[in-house]
Amino acid sequence: MTERSRPAGPAHDIVDIIRAKRDGGRLSDAEIDWTISAYTDGRVADEQVSALLMAIFLRGMSPGELSRWTEAMLASGERIDLSGLSRPTVDKHSTGGVGDKVSLVLAPLVAACGAAVPQLSGRGLGHTGGTLDKLEAIPGFRSALTVDEILDQLERVGCVICAAGPGLAPADRKLYALRDVTATVESIPLIAASIMSKKIAEGTSSLVLDVKVGSGAFMSERRGAAELANTMVALGRDHGLDVVALLTAMDVPLGKTAGNALEVAEAIEVLAGGGPEDLLAVTLALAREMLDLAGIDADPAAALQDGSALACWREMVVAQGGDPDASLPRARVVETVDADRSGFVTRLDARAVGVAAWRLGAGRARKEDSTSATAGVVCLAKPGDEVRAGEPVLELHGDDPALFDRARAALADAFTLSDVPEPLTDVVYERIGAPREAPRD
Ligand code: URA
Repeated sequence: MTERSRPAGPAHDIVDIIRAKRDGGRLSDAEIDWTISAYTDGRVADEQVSALLMAIFLRGMSPGELSRWTEAMLASGERIDLSGLSRPTVDKHSTGGVGDKVSLVLAPLVAACGAAVPQLSGRGLGHTGGTLDKLEAIPGFRSALTVDEILDQLERVGCVICAAGPGLAPADRKLYALRDVTATVESIPLIAASIMSKKIAEGTSSLVLDVKVGSGAFMSERRGAAELANTMVALGRDHGLDVVALLTAMDVPLGKTAGNALEVAEAIEVLAGGGPEDLLAVTLALAREMLDLAGIDADPAAALQDGSALACWREMVVAQGGDPDASLPRARVVETVDADRSGFVTRLDARAVGVAAWRLGAGRARKEDSTSATAGVVCLAKPGDEVRAGEPVLELHGDDPALFDRARAALADAFTLSDVPEPLTDVVYERIGAPREAPRD
């Protein structure tokens, strides 16, 4: 039954609310509270909220409306209380990119330095992978934890990477599913409210945002990414959270791999003190911001070299039922893509690599789909490298040979090879948020 046809007088009329936003008006606190609560418990129909979301997409929201919208989403569910932990809490959220396995390294790394990192994560949808899908490539790993298990693990190990339970910001679950099918995902206020409501509900006291910019990201332009970052930093501040955002590059896949087990293996390389330079640079930049917000004076690069970050990773995997010594699954079929000429790599399109990994089975088209642990792409050459004609530049990994042709098609224009090399640009573009604190004595 839609709100219009309810016999008992509703507090508000959803059609008036849609009309007000459609005409560029401002919604009151009471209207926002009522809309979110009525939608969460099914008193307002999907088609009505779809229309409202499109009106918000086109008209935007004022900072006051957005803050209240986020508050109402938070109020739709429970909030985890981490205040009893003995360590300072800090988390990181990435807006998502191809080959972005940074969370796998950061949580144990920052925990090894003394913070508690409550990484409540999601699964991948579309061409970017989800952290939980990656971790579940580890035999036995369990992503569904109770709040008591999360608290216990944070105290004992210092980090947890698990699924955000259904009780956390349930309004977002419904709204996100609706945005996904109504072309309203790419709205800065709606993205900001969605991310920040979940992070505030998770209970962390500080948060570092990795806002990706480029072909493989949500935000392809730096201006939009900066606006999203500023919006989330302000929302966090409104809700008592210290938030800093880094804008980082996502035109090229991060590191060498895209795909679940492949990315776990690469994350372990970084934890063991190695790994590709770009991945290490983004990881350390985010780790330094997290430690700064947590008030911890430690060098994350040292924790990668001295084995303490790797030890913490192993403890986390064991605590969540996984076997850190088990071999990761490997694909049955591995094929290469070879360079069609000699030259210097000046471009490797992140989106093309993400789509190829997805077509090989690493990602899902609908949230109900399962993902392949073994499928993915290994980038054997990246910008800055010189290659010869016929040399392999990519490896395609998968179990189903029928999927390879479409993956190859996605990669048809992925590389640019030039006669002269181009200088590499920094992977960290910009920092948004309060100035960094002066070093402690
Ligand atoms: N991630 C989220 O959690 N929500 C969005 O709206 C976009 C990305």
